[in-house]
Amino acid sequence: MDFKPLVETFAEMEQTSSRIALTDYLVSLLKKTPPDLIDKVTYLIQGKLYPDYEGIEMGLAEKMALRAIASSSGKNLSAVEKVYRETGDIGDTAGKVMVSKAQSTLVSEAMTVERVYSTFDRIARTTGQGSQETKLRHVSSLLNDSTPEEGRYIMKFVMGALRLGIADYTVLDALAIAFTGDKANREALENAYNVSSDLGTVARLLATKGLAAVKAMQVTLFKPIRPMLAERVTTAEEALERMEGKAAVEYKLDGERVQVHKGKDRVELFSRRLEKITSHYPDVTKAAMGIKAKEAIMEGEVVAINAQTGEYLPFQELMHRRRKYGFEEAMEAYPVVINFFDVLYLDGKNKMPLPYEERRELLEKVLMGARDGMIKVVPQKIATKPEQVDRFMNQAIEDGCEGVMVKLPQSIYRAGSREYLWVKLKREYRSELADTLDLVVVGALHGRGRRVGKYGALLLAAYDKSEDVFKSVSKVGTGFTDEHLDQFYRELEKHVVHQKHARVDTGMDMDVWFEPVMVIEVIASEITLSPSHTAAKNLIREGYGLALRFPKFTGRIRDDKDPEAATTVEEVATMYKRQVRVRTGAPPAD
Ligand code: ATP
Repeated sequence: MDFKPLVETFAEMEQTSSRIALTDYLVSLLKKTPPDLIDKVTYLIQGKLYPDYEGIEMGLAEKMALRAIASSSGKNLSAVEKVYRETGDIGDTAGKVMVSKAQSTLVSEAMTVERVYSTFDRIARTTGQGSQETKLRHVSSLLNDSTPEEGRYIMKFVMGALRLGIADYTVLDALAIAFTGDKANREALENAYNVSSDLGTVARLLATKGLAAVKAMQVTLFKPIRPMLAERVTTAEEALERMEGKAAVEYKLDGERVQVHKGKDRVELFSRRLEKITSHYPDVTKAAMGIKAKEAIMEGEVVAINAQTGEYLPFQELMHRRRKYGFEEAMEAYPVVINFFDVLYLDGKNKMPLPYEERRELLEKVLMGARDGMIKVVPQKIATKPEQVDRFMNQAIEDGCEGVMVKLPQSIYRAGSREYLWVKLKREYRSELADTLDLVVVGALHGRGRRVGKYGALLLAAYDKSEDVFKSVSKVGTGFTDEHLDQFYRELEKHVVHQKHARVDTGMDMDVWFEPVMVIEVIASEITLSPSHTAAKNLIREGYGLALRFPKFTGRIRDDKDPEAATTVEEVATMYKRQVRVRTGAPPAD
């Protein structure tokens, strides 16, 4: 397949933020794609080469990318660097510089999707000494045969900067329309995606074998399952009401969610974002080998503990484990335990369709022999009265937890969903505003005084799932330490865009705009109506959105969350309504 239609589609998609138009472009591209290339094209659309859990990156240094552009355009490096300083984007730099490149007289190899993909693949797989030079040669070989527009996208891709403004479910919609003619079939595709986390494989199966094959897609060991998530409630009464009077209440530990895949002689760990994090926890990996099952997929929360007292420590302590060197020391200095709370797959059988109660029984049975110092089953109690929930919650908090998770005993495991089958009841819900919010940083104001040269305040947005955009809900300027200010500047600088990003909706005027990538946690005293913020605009009052009052950064950057997993505008609206209810004493309404 020619690379050209891909590039043309990308260019058109960059010009629009309408979800309908984006879907249409994708549909027509997918229809033009040969079925056996669909997986590769699907990954390329997502700006990747493989599903995230493979953890494969191109790894080309910026300096090398600029050299590749210089050598294939015949310009000197300083001229290329100058354009880069102006554009701030390596892809745009390639596009501009290559316009004036002399047309090669040599017969060049055709630019096909197959060629581009396999060269990208080679770049990603080149490691070790001298790898940067080899990567550079591969990139140059592509650039030599590219048009400026092709070069632009090749470099954006290589640098991980290709952003078409589409979420996974826009791709799912497009696949359903392109191959079944009916958007309603997206649900079947989404189910397959939820158990495999691999959109390329789902797409290829659909294109080559049809919808029935997608529906029959099975759980596969070492392919992570998209996690089931929880809704929030503020009181034990509400939790029990949601659970129809009887609930399983578990400690909500403040650590990192980990999906453990155990095979006969191998264990892999995946994060909540489905990235492979086996190397963060070699001790957990080793302990998990002792689980008495040939094959298993289980979920648990890894928590840091005080080695002397065994007490749970806050989430931040786990950060010490994210290092490339000095693992042995980190393991000793920052010991952890894993508290399992679910089993999804066991010895060839998918256990997700079983009710929670049965899965819990199974979990206890499987872990019976393996429970040593490091492996535990999360403490749990069955409750039928609010007092029981509250008592267990107090005990959990005393033991260093965030609160409790309340689960419906009859519920199956719904991969990838956030529903009232699991609810969370947290300590913070007892004070001020009901909960912390995880919001996406979309813009900033330059700092003044002590903050000169840094960002003074950040503009935060909630996710609007139906429109697939980020709508502003607050500016935050407090709760930052000097280290945070440095870190924000360092990390956000890479994501600066020249104007408000196409997926950002706000009435606020900012000095700097960012791609919506970073998620941070904030608390606030309440939610108010605002004429400038666009979250839930017109929902409560015509012309007004919702905004946070007295927002404060909690110190927690949620790098375990994708921007699409941030607090949604619906959740902000629910918080607002709940707050009004509490004040007026009105009965709960849904
Ligand atoms: P939060 O910000 O509250 O952690 P989240 O959006 O990351 O929420 P939620 O699904 O809302 O995810 O809350 C559940 C999270 O709580 C899980 O992702 C997991 O990391 C953690 N957790 C701790 N203990 C449990 C438990 N017993 N059962 C399920 N999840 C638990």
